[in-house]
Amino acid sequence: MKVMLITGASRGIGAATAQLAAENGFAVAVNFHRSREAAERLVVGITDRGGKAVAIRADASREEEIRHLFEETTRQLDRLDCLVNNAGILERQMRLDEMEVDRLHRVFTTNITGPFLCAREAVRRMSTKYGGYGGTIVNVSSLAAKTGAPNEYVDYAASKGALDSLTMGLAREVAAEGIRVNGVRPAFIHTDIHAQGGEPGRIERLKDSIPLKRGGTAREVAEAILWLASDKSSYSTGTFIDVTGGR
Ligand code: NAD
Repeated sequence: MKVMLITGASRGIGAATAQLAAENGFAVAVNFHRSREAAERLVVGITDRGGKAVAIRADASREEEIRHLFEETTRQLDRLDCLVNNAGILERQMRLDEMEVDRLHRVFTTNITGPFLCAREAVRRMSTKYGGYGGTIVNVSSLAAKTGAPNEYVDYAASKGALDSLTMGLAREVAAEGIRVNGVRPAFIHTDIHAQGGEPGRIERLKDSIPLKRGGTAREVAEAILWLASDKSSYSTGTFIDVTGGR
């Protein structure tokens, strides 16, 4: 049974990915930071349907906790085949000239330092160079990496741009060691990440700017993640799937 570790998986895109991966025969490590109850509910839902899943607490942006997360994953599920770097934060809509440096540190620590360190742990376990069987890494980026998100959150966009560079560089670095690295770039997906609010009417304007005229679902992003994580995408590395409703 292949094992997938998903960071920030207690809700939203991460939870949908855990659910879909379990339906497709993966054993799943559901990482959560604060929402133990939600993560455990998800695990029970999966195991009740005959799947295999465990919930593991860790702040996926801190080196020591990330090390613990990977050790626990392989201790409880025996191996690691796929990492989904999903945990991410988006702060309130704001221009750069109003942003404090603390915000920049929070966003970059979660959205790029965390995925970087998780990828490092994954490579140390998956690489044939270290005796591993190979594997896949999927980084959950954002369309904002390409647009820059002016007047909204250039900090977030820059962190996701950095994540895309990591995806492309690492893909080439570890391709010969059996590891494929790809990314998904969602645009507007209905999840709690938008709960921090913004200008009145922003969500309606956002939907209107999408050719398919609706926000996406977490499940629709999970489908792309699963394809990149699985052997179905065996000839793709260093590439991205935009899940944007045509935006
Ligand atoms: P969400 O807020 O529902 O989920 C994010 C999850 O990450 C939460 O469970 C949160 O607890 C977790 N998390 C945050 N910091 C963490 C940390 N340090 N350690 C462990 N977990 C942590 O939002 P979502 O939309 O499901 O977001 C998932 C990913 O998708 C994020 O990387 C986000 O940037 C990306 N994304 C979302 C959208 C969208 O419109 N929803 C668009 C583009 C990209």
